[in-house]
Amino acid sequence: MGAAVSTFDVDLFVIGAGSGGVRAARIAAGYGAKVLVAEEFRIGGTCVIRGCVPKKLYVYASRFKDEFEDAAGFGWTLPSAPIFDWSTLIAGKEKEISRLSAIYKANLERAGVSVIEQRAQIVDAHTVKLTDGRQISAKYILVATGGTPVLEPAIPGIEHAISSNELFDVPQFPKRLLVVGGGYIGVEFASVFARLGSDVALTFRADNVLRGFDEDMRAGVHDALTHAGIKIHAGVLPTQIEKTADGLVVALSDGTAITVDQVMIATGRRPHVQGLGLEAAGVAMAKNGAIKVDHYSATNVPSIYAVGDVTDRVNLTPVAIREGHAFADNVFGGKNVLVDHSDVPTAVFTTPELGTVGISEQVARSQYDVVDIYSASFRPMRATLSGRAEKTLMKIIVDGTSDRVLGVHILGHEAGEMAQLLGIAVRMGATKADFDATMAVHPTAAEELVTMRTRTTRYERQATPGQAAQ
Ligand code: NDP
Repeated sequence: MGAAVSTFDVDLFVIGAGSGGVRAARIAAGYGAKVLVAEEFRIGGTCVIRGCVPKKLYVYASRFKDEFEDAAGFGWTLPSAPIFDWSTLIAGKEKEISRLSAIYKANLERAGVSVIEQRAQIVDAHTVKLTDGRQISAKYILVATGGTPVLEPAIPGIEHAISSNELFDVPQFPKRLLVVGGGYIGVEFASVFARLGSDVALTFRADNVLRGFDEDMRAGVHDALTHAGIKIHAGVLPTQIEKTADGLVVALSDGTAITVDQVMIATGRRPHVQGLGLEAAGVAMAKNGAIKVDHYSATNVPSIYAVGDVTDRVNLTPVAIREGHAFADNVFGGKNVLVDHSDVPTAVFTTPELGTVGISEQVARSQYDVVDIYSASFRPMRATLSGRAEKTLMKIIVDGTSDRVLGVHILGHEAGEMAQLLGIAVRMGATKADFDATMAVHPTAAEELVTMRTRTTRYERQATPGQAAQ
């Protein structure tokens, strides 16, 4: 790139300075491309500004409650009951995300990328229009606009509800909170706010939280949420929200009603494509607005690419970063990099947290002839003296034919950290024998992963209808 005379204003116009867009812009600039990034909100995107980063800070804040309680069993007496101050947490969070946002911006500028803090709209395959009316021509356009919360179901009074975006910063700490939705955001926020001192109710339409995760882990998270004092209403949704002097009165589909200070809706996010001009440029989208892309993140319009949540593939920050990096490598670096969307390790930051990589028992049983399950449920060491009723669950899913580890699921302290490392082993095709041959680190919870010698269950696919599985 670079040396060739271009008839375009820029080689790459990136819409959205979130995780995927920023990475793509920096890598492309590193290959000599002239790059411009437009961002209408704050540099950093959902993850940095109102997602992963502030969420994890709030998770840390919430866990002090358990630490204070557990300390007594180890001989500590606190001089007085700990007091939590919401505005201090918001201010601390704001300081940190502003710091990170500034670093993102500085890194872009250091890489030679121009940043325009305006909304951008696609005019045609090679033209983008900014809010100030300027039109920029680009050889390539990368859409990295992420996702946006969906406030559903569309019930009377839904305008009184908020999403996680707003809950981070509500001026008044919600003493009574209703969380709607049993996905990542619903369970994480319920877990956080219950520990920070809210009286939390959690409602969702399914029979349990975290659809798609291993059933034993779902049950474990459900138990942990209940232990934290969260009132769970499975199979129940709000039907109406009414604002009264005492708070928001929420009618529920089971005929009951609750009064709360805030209702947070976490019923999913949708690709952020509204008003982007994608239709004008002829970019194909799925029914939910997700931009359709191929394995190279290319849309049906040869000059337009898309990465991250706006493509609704695996909606996680590290995946968007990988997609953005690969796009820049391929288009500007002459490489041929494909992003592997399988075996993506992930964590749900409830307390205890859920860390997972690979497939669940249920998926394994539908795909493999012989599936071996190794599982352990134990009281973590620190819970012995603290007396906390907490269980750590671990589960290894193995292909009984090849001995290959297909999935590992952990509900327990630092499970997210463990999932990261297990991700390497699972991707490398580790077998159960490899796990067994690995020396334990003692005393840790993770050592259980290499000491689970006895199979809990073996499932064999029925050869003929009616033949019982073992
Ligand atoms: P999820 O898709 O995880 O969960 C959505 C929840 O809302 C589910 O309980 C779902 O129910 C329910 N739901 C969906 N549509 C409706 C509807 N029309 N009416 C009622 N209920 C509905 O979305 P989240 O908003 O929790 O999170 C969005 C994404 O952000 C996640 O998928 C994840 O990719 C990412 N994320 C990742 C985090 C992490 O890595 N720790 C943290 C937070 C977010 P059902 O199960 O029945 O479909």
